[in-house]
Amino acid sequence: MKIDILTLFPGMFKGPLTESLIAKAREKGIISIMVHDIRSFTKDRHRTADDKPFGGGPGMVMKIEPVHGALKKLGCTGKKGKKPLVIYLSPQGKPFDQQKAKDLSKKKHIVLLCGHYEGIDERIMKWVDLELSIGDYVLTGGEIPAMAVVDAVSRMIPGVVKEAGSVENDSFYGGLLDCPHYTRPAVFEGMKVPEVLLSGHHKKIEEWKKAQVLARTSKRRPDLISRKKKA
Ligand code: SAM
Repeated sequence: MKIDILTLFPGMFKGPLTESLIAKAREKGIISIMVHDIRSFTKDRHRTADDKPFGGGPGMVMKIEPVHGALKKLGCTGKKGKKPLVIYLSPQGKPFDQQKAKDLSKKKHIVLLCGHYEGIDERIMKWVDLELSIGDYVLTGGEIPAMAVVDAVSRMIPGVVKEAGSVENDSFYGGLLDCPHYTRPAVFEGMKVPEVLLSGHHKKIEEWKKAQVLARTSKRRPDLISRKKKA
């Protein structure tokens, strides 16, 4: 899968894209991620990427020309069907969830467009296929949301997470929350690991895990139980 990220702050991506699973997936060639500096598509001497809003008001607005230039270079302004899926990270977008991560992981090529300041000149929406929000709060820019999308989508691509079972048991994958996890030591400050996990009895362990999943989800996220029943 190919992911192109358009941002005014490419330096923000250095850590997240060069550590842990994402770094390994890139090394293995399972995903290709490129970060592009929108400012390099400006044409003036001062490399101006933002300007005051028409009609007045606080803050600055990202100019359309450099963003359009970047989208054009990536082939996002051509005919639909042939072009990559352009996603604008926006607090006004559709909620990004596990199902969206699964769906996006099947795409060949996506472009993640990060806004900043008050956002991007609205006319850019002509070339945006989907707006995604990572939650009902406002961040300074689309960079952290883009990182969240890259991470969640990458985990859904076969081979990125070593054991497929680990992804399938994760919260939300099957619609419910995950069970609690423990590792050595078996006793810490008087707190014992549930006996069944030390029993070696696989059937009983599986039953315990299933019961934990249901109990946790009912307690913490009853909405997920009702949703699963309806599905
Ligand atoms: N004025 C905008 C509004 O109220 O809808 C918010 C602009 S925000 C300060 C700057 C940029 O951060 C946005 O253009 C968007 O790319 C990104 N952003 C902020 N919060 C986000 C969220 N919850 N999900 C996705 N992107 C977000």
